[in-house]
Amino acid sequence: MLSRKDFEKLDKNDNLKDFRSKFSLPEGLIYFDGNSLGAMPKEAALRANEVVVKEWGHDLIQSWNKAGWFHLTEKIGNKIAKLIGANEGEVICTDATGLNLFKILAVALKMRPERKIILMEGSNFPTDNYTAQGLSQIMGQGHEVKFAEKNDILEAITEDVAVVSLTQVHYKKGHLLDMKAITKKAHQVGALIIWDLCHSAGALPIDLNGCDVDFAVGCTYKYLNGGPGSPAFLFVASRHQGKETQPLTGWWGHKAPFLFEQDYEQAKTIWQFLTGTQPILSLATAEVGIDIMVSADMEEIRKKSIKMSDLFIQLIDENLKEYDFCIASPLNSAERGSQISLYSENGYPIIKALIAAGVVGDFRAPDIMRFGFTPLYLKYTDLWDAVQRLKVIMENDVWKKAEFNEVSSVT
Ligand SMILES: *Cc1c(COP(=O)(O)O)cnc(C)c1O
Repeated sequence: MLSRKDFEKLDKNDNLKDFRSKFSLPEGLIYFDGNSLGAMPKEAALRANEVVVKEWGHDLIQSWNKAGWFHLTEKIGNKIAKLIGANEGEVICTDATGLNLFKILAVALKMRPERKIILMEGSNFPTDNYTAQGLSQIMGQGHEVKFAEKNDILEAITEDVAVVSLTQVHYKKGHLLDMKAITKKAHQVGALIIWDLCHSAGALPIDLNGCDVDFAVGCTYKYLNGGPGSPAFLFVASRHQGKETQPLTGWWGHKAPFLFEQDYEQAKTIWQFLTGTQPILSLATAEVGIDIMVSADMEEIRKKSIKMSDLFIQLIDENLKEYDFCIASPLNSAERGSQISLYSENGYPIIKALIAAGVVGDFRAPDIMRFGFTPLYLKYTDLWDAVQRLKVIMENDVWKKAEFNEVSSVT
């Protein structure tokens, strides 16, 4: 049986423990939702103040040059590149994930004009699937989204598939797909691959170029701690840049925006994937979180994440056996990202009762309770304390209270 002492010892010997003080976390709160909205780096508040008061308030329009605003999206992209196994000039930080997927998928489909199938995981975070469906419709060329689930994906990658578009770590169950094997299979049949890294960037080591990936997208507000609605990123392997035109052809993607020419001519670099003026405040604060992540050792992050999730499973097993929390995530740590999901038909009120007790996880319909592990700011003792609070809630039927059974607009 584990005891709190074991967790205290792990905290003492934790190589990443100094990172926690870089984040703003309310006293006593245990935060397992960094896979949905990462914690705020303390420095982000100072940076926001500097951008507003000095760069905007004092230097005004000069800041496009003087403060480097114009190149921020590319500068941050190059930092993200280091986290995902990409080279300089292959990543840009802009727009929302769904928008980036729209632009990239359009380019990928143009590169395989004779094929009509887009292969996706049906149970994936829906915006990716919605985007592919919307794009297929607007293109009007008979494209069709075909769905496969985890164990059937390799088999479903056949010679009629134009593009395989998958999320590396599943948002709900946390399973990790084999990027190398799936990318290889896609290429073997002549298809292109797009990886969504929303639940893996900043959570585990990623090697896009080592896996020969064509395209990728991802957000920065989850494990990269970029802030609510911070711009997402996109990766385009250099061999695919400056060829097919993406559909949102705004002035920022023009090869010379400040010549204000009449006709669109795309940039030959990753800039071709920009559309319009970028949200500088959001980019500037996102950069702070990304800088912290770049300064950490991703192998250490992965090691701690695995240790935490294994311990969490053990704690559930040792303390809450009689409540039938089924583990929805793979039990083998090599097959999952940085979260553990539990099935429970009463998941919604239980999560609400937990939040009221200062343990923030979240709920995904119809029956999944999610706990995300963010090694830079979570302590091992947080695991112990959270499970003890969950035990109190279960033993005393706290979750049955009416206040925990009313549905809020954001779950
Ligand atoms: C979080 C998440 C998104 C977010 O999409 P936005 O367009 O940035 O809101 C997209 N895809 C996946 C797989 C996600 O987990």
